[in-house]
Amino acid sequence: MAITESVLFDGKVFSRKIDEETLGLSRRFYDIRGRKPRLAIIDPAQTSENSIYGRSKIKKGEKLSIECYYIRVPEPAGNKSPLAYIENLLMEAEPDGIIMERPLPPWISERDATQIVPDYLDVEGINLLNMGKNMAGEKTIIPATADACLQIIESLDGKFGKDVCIVNRTKVVGRPLALALINRNYTVTVCHSQTVDLKEKTSRAGIVVTATGKPEYLDSSYISKGAAVIDVGITRTEKGVVGDANFPDIQGKAGFITPVPGGVGPVTTSILMKNFMTIAIKRLEDRLNY
Ligand code: NAP
Repeated sequence: MAITESVLFDGKVFSRKIDEETLGLSRRFYDIRGRKPRLAIIDPAQTSENSIYGRSKIKKGEKLSIECYYIRVPEPAGNKSPLAYIENLLMEAEPDGIIMERPLPPWISERDATQIVPDYLDVEGINLLNMGKNMAGEKTIIPATADACLQIIESLDGKFGKDVCIVNRTKVVGRPLALALINRNYTVTVCHSQTVDLKEKTSRAGIVVTATGKPEYLDSSYISKGAAVIDVGITRTEKGVVGDANFPDIQGKAGFITPVPGGVGPVTTSILMKNFMTIAIKRLEDRLNY
């Protein structure tokens, strides 16, 4: 099969429309509230503000008229509860939405992280109530990476069938994506590190989503001819940033590929901001209608 037969996804182009919608929402917010929407990024490990990811959120916020600010959270003294401590900081900051930056330091458990952010300020879809709504098939915010994969899959418009194999079972990628797809009548197989005969599962699906962080493992022997490959993995190697897919090897056999970098990544950041504006506007309008 000729190389040109693989359709290459462009994350930047795909994100443009999402950003336009977000900008429309942030302008509407400004018109009603008389100030920019405020997105608080809690940074308990105090490592993110100057990282590439941290700066990219601030930059994206500037473009979309959203005020993004970091709240550095040092470890609470004595045996103070991290939940009460962060709640106090948030009350002072009065944000319209909250992101809890990873990695978490040892003094905050994953369980606590899902409770610190109330559901109505939960930009990342990690609050237990929002996770439960996705499980119940109700409309809700889901984690941005899962949402980015969902929107890319929906944009394929059934051309690659409705059988999806996801290689990841985490609560920010594989699980919410699987539920969101089932809610939209896809048939989903979820794989992980203990899956027996991974190739047999991936090569049966018309759409493969991979998010393992194992650089370039997914070669052409893992996919069926003409399949769509959505590559979430990002790994820095000596030759630069690569994804889970062995790009040169699958190009030509796959019918559709999201490249790394420039594929799922930019869509994820755009969706994060769109999700923020969706909850900020909803809360504002709920208050006005009260
Ligand atoms: P993670 O928490 O380590 O999860 C990796 C998942 O892949 C787990 O479910 C794991 O299975 C599974 N896995 C690992 N090795 C495997 C193997 N050999 N065969 C089958 N399954 C395997 O990682 P993560 O935070 O989800 O991130 C995964 C990758 O996505 C990383 O490269 C990360 O940088 C990237 N990422 C990208 C974006 C984006 O916007 N593009 C966002 C988030 C993450 P177990 O559950 O059994 O351990």
